[in-house]
Amino acid sequence: MNEVNLEEYKIKGYYPTIGIECHVQLKSKTKLFSSVSNDAIGAKPNTLISHICFGLPGALPVLNKEVVRLSSIAAFALGTKPQKFSKFDRKHYFYPDLPKGYQITQLDQPIILGGRVTVSLEDGTTQTINITRAHIEEDAGKSTHPSGADYSLVDLNRAGTPLLEIVSEPEIHSAKQAKAYAKELWLIMKYAGVSDVNLFHGNMRFDVNVSVSKDPKKLGTRSETKNLNSFKSVERAVDYEIKRQIDLLEKGKNIAQETRGWIDDKQKTVGQRSKEDANDYRYFPDPDIPPVTISDQYINDIKRNMPILLGKWRDKLQKQGLNYLQIEALLESNIEFNANFLSLIADSSKEVAEVYTNWILNIEIPLRHKQIESKEPLEITASTRKAIFAGIHELIQQGQLSSNNARLMIIFLLKSSKIPDDFKELAQKLGYIQMSDIGELESLVDQIIKKNPTAVEEVRSGEKKVIGFLVGQVMKESKGQANPAVVKTIITRKIETHES
Ligand code: MN
Repeated sequence: MNEVNLEEYKIKGYYPTIGIECHVQLKSKTKLFSSVSNDAIGAKPNTLISHICFGLPGALPVLNKEVVRLSSIAAFALGTKPQKFSKFDRKHYFYPDLPKGYQITQLDQPIILGGRVTVSLEDGTTQTINITRAHIEEDAGKSTHPSGADYSLVDLNRAGTPLLEIVSEPEIHSAKQAKAYAKELWLIMKYAGVSDVNLFHGNMRFDVNVSVSKDPKKLGTRSETKNLNSFKSVERAVDYEIKRQIDLLEKGKNIAQETRGWIDDKQKTVGQRSKEDANDYRYFPDPDIPPVTISDQYINDIKRNMPILLGKWRDKLQKQGLNYLQIEALLESNIEFNANFLSLIADSSKEVAEVYTNWILNIEIPLRHKQIESKEPLEITASTRKAIFAGIHELIQQGQLSSNNARLMIIFLLKSSKIPDDFKELAQKLGYIQMSDIGELESLVDQIIKKNPTAVEEVRSGEKKVIGFLVGQVMKESKGQANPAVVKTIITRKIETHES
């Protein structure tokens, strides 16, 4: 049990309590009960459908094994293990985007029971939020209501998409905690590799159940705000609901148990429908789908083949001496294959890890975003990146590349995605090699001093800042290839000793 001091979260004498349900779209190739593609992004409406998605009479659903595997991985990622026995039930309701009139879900024997998510808050404290359960279910289709039209449109591409609905215990007590929980769950699913976790495409959708009560031992009537698809909207919707409910209660009014929606433009929630009780859904076991039983061996195989999970990555990066912000920025970066650069950092020496971290955060990630916008994504393998970084690092160590030229050369190589035979030769060809030959630099400095007698006089009369101007002139003359630190030393010496 958590030792939570509820007094900390009290607002105007009320204790807020929040539970979160999250629908995670699992990344199986095909849908939950049919062999139609599960990749609906960019597909024309109603092109990814079969008799199963349509719910035609006599259509028989067949459970997709891969969904059970992905859910089992999610169980371990949530700190528990999959249930050896689970079953599917029908949940009845009528909606135009649900042609068969019921959703196939798991009512009382879900694939996951228990588990936990530990969140760190901005103030450095952590809190563990327990997971009640997670069940597999199918998504419905999508209805759109064109403005001004006297009809609605139904697209069934999404009907039958496999979802894992993760339900938290009502152990969250503030909007900030709700946001932190949502983000942590997103990271956990991302590193478990069970979902594409693309929030924009609705791969994870959060429903927040919020209530307030003057008695910390009794829950108030809750509202459920559905389908939030950003961490910020989770935070704002919870914040808004806490305030709305307290205002109502202060005016002596009641809270309706209802489903609400979040209107992002107006930053507010609005009532949509009164909340059904479980018995309104007329649940019963689905006779078409046999219960799912998995063996100990199956569970052990999943456990043995788990990917490196979020917590483990945090440990690895921390051991490399990276700070909290660097670690979180690397983990959050929404870049495909980022496990590849995480392992590059984790497997380097501490000093090199710091350098590579900066390159990835300040050069590669911004470059990738730019390339994605211009629809020319970088195609770079982990081993190519590794070779490029190592080659550039060596040139810097030898004093051949300035940090700015290193940046330019990294961009050049990442874009071309080729490993040069000879890094130094290429750097020379590109004009990036730093001029460190003292003889060459001395004569350049002599030229500049001769050309700028006034500036030289100013330095002599104590205007030390003007040295920067002279260094700049030398840099310009050398087309950026001079080593500025060395240039500054030479200029200072020459002016002070009246060498020129
Ligand atoms: Mn659901």
